[in-house]
Amino acid sequence: MEDCIFCRIVRGEIPSDKVYEDDRVLAFRDINPQAPQHVLVIPKRHIASLNDAGAEDAEILGHLQLVIPEVARRLGIAGSGYRVVVNTGPDAQQTVFHIHYHVLGGRQLQWPPG
Ligand code: AMP
Repeated sequence: MEDCIFCRIVRGEIPSDKVYEDDRVLAFRDINPQAPQHVLVIPKRHIASLNDAGAEDAEILGHLQLVIPEVARRLGIAGSGYRVVVNTGPDAQQTVFHIHYHVLGGRQLQWPPG
């Protein structure tokens, strides 16, 4: 999508601190980190949210989830542990409507989340 901020990051129009990239998926550091390690993993193809994902997105979202452990290894948190969060809709305070998986780690995380 033309104006979507994460589509613009995919196209290289907005800089990002990349930690992983392949033909379908991009992972980059969150600009406002909530943990010592905080990375967003996104499909390059625009999907607005989990609510907007359909059967045609099963393969890309499956691939994306399989990339997450590799991202965690690159961040050095695969062994210590990490949390994966997909904020969806108003109550979850989703602010960017291009689906993204937050990967958070590098400290003891609290449960339940706020
Ligand atoms: P959410 O609230 O789940 O929609 O998360 C959106 C996330 O995108 C927030 O954690 C923001 O800090 C992050 N974010 C917004 N713009 C950028 C950007 N240009 N580069 C990296 N992260 C961003």
